Amino acid sequence: MENEFLTRQLKEKRIRPSYQRMRILDYLATHHTHPTADTIYQALKQEIPALSKSTVYNTLITFANAGLVQSVRIDEPGVRFDIKTKQHGHFRCQACDRLIDFDINLDEVNIQGLEQHHITERHVYYQGLCQACLTESNKEEF
Ligand SMILES: [Zn+2]
Ligand SMILES: [Zn+2]
Repeated sequence: MENEFLTRQLKEKRIRPSYQRMRILDYLATHHTHPTADTIYQALKQEIPALSKSTVYNTLITFANAGLVQSVRIDEPGVRFDIKTKQHGHFRCQACDRLIDFDINLDEVNIQGLEQHHITERHVYYQGLCQACLTESNKEEF
C-alpha cells in the first residue's frame, strides 16, 4: 500500500500517523482476512520488535472508533477487524474458520418486533462449510 494514501487516511481521521499505526493499517489493507489483534501482532512483531499486543489492540480500537475499520464479534473472545466498513454480511466456515464477505442490503431485510427499539448496529452472520472445505471433504469420501 502507498504510504501516502495510508498517511492521508489517518490524518483525515485526526490520528497521528506513527510508524506502528501505519504498519497495522497497511496489514489490514493488504490482508482482507478479518484478522484478530493477535494475528496482526504475530505477523508484525518480527519487523517491529518494540510492538506489544496491547498496542496492536488499542490501535485497532482507535481505528474502529474513527470508522477506518469495523470490529466483527463473531467468535468471542476473538474480535476480528475488517478494513471493509461498507455494509456487508459474513459467512464463517466452521472447518477452516475463514470469514467470507457477502453483499446484502440490510435496508431490505424485513424485521418485525423491533419498532420500539433504537438500533445502533446491524450484523448479518451465517455459518457453515465453505466451498473449499466442501470440496476437501468430498475428496476424503472416495
Ligand atoms: Zn472452509
Ligand atoms: Zn468482512
